[in-house]
Amino acid sequence: MSHEHIHKQEGGCSCCSTHEHGHEHGGEEENSLLRLIGIAASALMFLLGFLSRGSVLSVSFFLVAYLCVGWSVLKEAVENIVHGELFDETFLMALATIGAIGIGEYGEAAAVMILYQLGEFLQDKAVDSSRDAIRALMDIRPDTANLYEDGKIREVNASEVNIGDRIEVHVGERIPLDGVVENGSSSLNTSALTGESLPQEVSIGDLVKSGCVNLGGTLLLRVTTPFGEDSASKILALVEHAEENKAEPEKFITRFARIYTPVVVVLAVFLAVLPPLLGIGTFSVFLNRALNFLVISCPCALVISIPLTFFSGIGCASHNGILIKGSNYLEALTRAEIAAFDKTGTLTKGEFSVSEIVAEEGYSRESVLELAAYGESQSNHPLAASICKACSGEIDRGRLSDVHEIPGRGVKALLDGKELIVGKPDYLVESGVPCRISAAHAATAVCVAYQGQLCGTILLSDLPKEDAKQALSALHNLGVERTVMLTGDRAAVAEAVGRELGIREVFSSLLPEDKLSKVEELMRDKSTKGVLLYTGDGINDTPVLAEADIGIAMGGLGTDAAMEAADIVIMSDEPSKIAKAIQISRKTMRIAKQNIVFSIAVKGIILLLSGFGFVQLWAAVFADVGVCMLAILNSLRAMR
Ligand code: ADP
Ligand code: MG
Repeated sequence: MSHEHIHKQEGGCSCCSTHEHGHEHGGEEENSLLRLIGIAASALMFLLGFLSRGSVLSVSFFLVAYLCVGWSVLKEAVENIVHGELFDETFLMALATIGAIGIGEYGEAAAVMILYQLGEFLQDKAVDSSRDAIRALMDIRPDTANLYEDGKIREVNASEVNIGDRIEVHVGERIPLDGVVENGSSSLNTSALTGESLPQEVSIGDLVKSGCVNLGGTLLLRVTTPFGEDSASKILALVEHAEENKAEPEKFITRFARIYTPVVVVLAVFLAVLPPLLGIGTFSVFLNRALNFLVISCPCALVISIPLTFFSGIGCASHNGILIKGSNYLEALTRAEIAAFDKTGTLTKGEFSVSEIVAEEGYSRESVLELAAYGESQSNHPLAASICKACSGEIDRGRLSDVHEIPGRGVKALLDGKELIVGKPDYLVESGVPCRISAAHAATAVCVAYQGQLCGTILLSDLPKEDAKQALSALHNLGVERTVMLTGDRAAVAEAVGRELGIREVFSSLLPEDKLSKVEELMRDKSTKGVLLYTGDGINDTPVLAEADIGIAMGGLGTDAAMEAADIVIMSDEPSKIAKAIQISRKTMRIAKQNIVFSIAVKGIILLLSGFGFVQLWAAVFADVGVCMLAILNSLRAMR
């Protein structure tokens, strides 16, 4: 996977990224060493040629130097012509240097090629390192599987699972390995694999693929393929996905190059032919100028530095634990206007401590907690983890069946074949179990009902994340004036947290669908260029994450479903990273704009000068590589 990839996106003029490298990492390193040796050898030959100027030997030194570095370019130019891609950079380089040789300028031809290849090499290196940073980040989350053995679940590394083993996949989790459904039914989000956004329904006997996210119920799978390739290709798919989403300035370059290159070639032909025909000068002088013009015309600086600027920006974000899935999101971040947040797990830690258990008649506090733990044993909700931790007893999974999680509400399951409901008070009422809780309690309430009877209520409290308050003031300082909290929790809890953090608007008791309509309402409120950010962690947040201009998910605590739907993932779970991401995006855009203006201006001036014969070929290439390098150095500033 290498620059070929960027190359394809640039359309006609795939400046400065036309080399095919080995696909293996080791191969790539070897390859780049070979390239460097080739360039150094050519430079030596060139030096010998230069020192023996005037002798016959000099020409052969120059020619060897030229072929040594230029061979791959010539070969690729021919291949591209065969494929009908006439106006790319290799074509320009080949035409101009062969022309130079044709008019006896051997030294220039060699110098041009050496500088060009050196430029290419440095550019490729720079692109590689930012890509590696991104790739490394994608690899951070290890794949684990819930291995099902003798009625017990054990979390193991996905690589330890063998064909024929049984694994359980809970709601909100990503399927770690390909397998056949043995028990349960669910719907899957397959978008990571297929790009298809509609969920796929699966039931017993269906084959499911790793990388899909389980949206519905718990699935028991019999593994059919070993751990390996599929996981790697999944990561690659994500990286490619990031590159497909190009930012505005990048699209501008692609369009620009497509028109620009043919125009330049036509102009060069005119420059070579017209003035001599009009009697202004000799044909050889203008042929020389036309060749200069061609070499200079390659918009290297633009075509390579702009995508690289965005790579650097994304790389910088990744060093900060912020995974941005495309440069278009980086660009959109600069226009952030409204920041909306989920509460639990996003602004708060999601580590609840049980503050009180109210048991109804006939139940002890311990039994209420135990029933709740049974209900929550397969849930990924932060409340579930906290309840299971608080309960000391063993969970016998054999007693449970038909577990369903209803996002934003709670869990319904059969325990010993009888209905168990664990969830928020409203959800129990919806399910026909009378239940109420004093509005004054500023704690999250989880009610437990068994066989249609309320057994008790568990009150839990959560603390805001350490940096949450600072995160909000940083956003306000960056000009993101509207900060909004959208939560499924009760008003008393929501308002207490909102007040503590200094969030400007609070909406509570929202079901997942209410969150969605609230966000749609906010989207209508913002200015046309403004961007709405939504940050969430849970499976109930996924529709909103997809709907918002930019969805941001918490990578550590968050569910795979949320990370899949999000455009940006914060690996460290710190909300303050949102402000950091905005700062990075603004810096990146500033640099991209500087590069555009700088390289177009310099290019225009040099082209004009070369047309009038004021610039020699080698000087032009030097200037070109120089501009390119300056632009690249500037792009790399986005890394810091
Ligand atoms: P938030 O929007 O604050 O992240 P959620 O939408 O995830 O909260 O959940 C909203 C409310 O629904 C929770 O406060 C809780 O009362 C209830 N709830 C959701 N999932 C569960 C669960 N697995 N167990 C118990 N209660 C739940
Ligand atoms: Mg949440």
